[in-house]
Amino acid sequence: MKLLEDRIRKDGVIREGNVLKVDSFLNHQMDIELFREIGKEFKRRFADVEINKILTIEASGIGIACVAAEYFGVPVVFAKKNKTKNIAGDVYTTRVESFTHGRVFDIIVSKQFLGKGDKVLLIDDFLANGKALEGLAELVHEAGAELAGAGIVIEKGFQRGGDAIRAKGIRLESLAIVESMDEKTGTIVFRENN
Ligand code: 5GP
Repeated sequence: MKLLEDRIRKDGVIREGNVLKVDSFLNHQMDIELFREIGKEFKRRFADVEINKILTIEASGIGIACVAAEYFGVPVVFAKKNKTKNIAGDVYTTRVESFTHGRVFDIIVSKQFLGKGDKVLLIDDFLANGKALEGLAELVHEAGAELAGAGIVIEKGFQRGGDAIRAKGIRLESLAIVESMDEKTGTIVFRENN
C-alpha cells in the first residue's frame, strides 16, 4: 500500500533491536484519515471472505480494528492482557510472548463474545515473530470459531512471523512489508506487495 509505505518512510524511526517506531501516526498519535485508507484496503483484500467478527489485541490493535470494522460492518473484540492471576472459567486464554516488552503474559477473551459459528478476521498493527497473531489464532481455535484470515498493517519481513503464519495455512494480508531497515542510514526497503 503505497500511501502507507510513503508515510513509514517519512515518519518512521528505526530503533535498535529491529524496532520501527511509528508513534506519530499509528501507535501513539493516530492519523484517522490514514486509518480509513487502511480499513478500506483490508476490506478490498478480504472482499471475498465472509467474516462476522474482528479480533485484535490491546492496546495498539484496537484503533485500527475499529476503523476497519466500519468497512466490514462487524463488531470488534479485543483480547485483554490479563493482569490478575485468577482467570475465571468463562474465558478463553493463552500465553503470548511480547516482542516489544520481552516478557510473557496471558491474553483472554470472554466466552460470551467468541464461539462456534463465528468467522473471525484477526487485525493487528505489527507482525514480528508472530507470537501475538499465533495467540489470537489459538483463542479462535479454543472457541471453535473459524479463522478467516489475518490483516497486518506493518509486517517486518526479515523476522520469522510472516513465514510461520503462512506455513500454518492462515491467509495473511500485510499492507506494508519491510524487507530491511538500516538504523544508521534510516533506509527502509519494502517488499513488492499489492
Ligand atoms: P510478534 O508477536 O509478531 O513478535 O510482535 C507483534 C506485536 O509486537 C505487535 O502487536 C506490536 O504491538 C509489537 N511490535 C513488534 N514489532 C514492533 C515494531 O517494530 N514496532 C512497534 N511499534 N511494535 C512492534
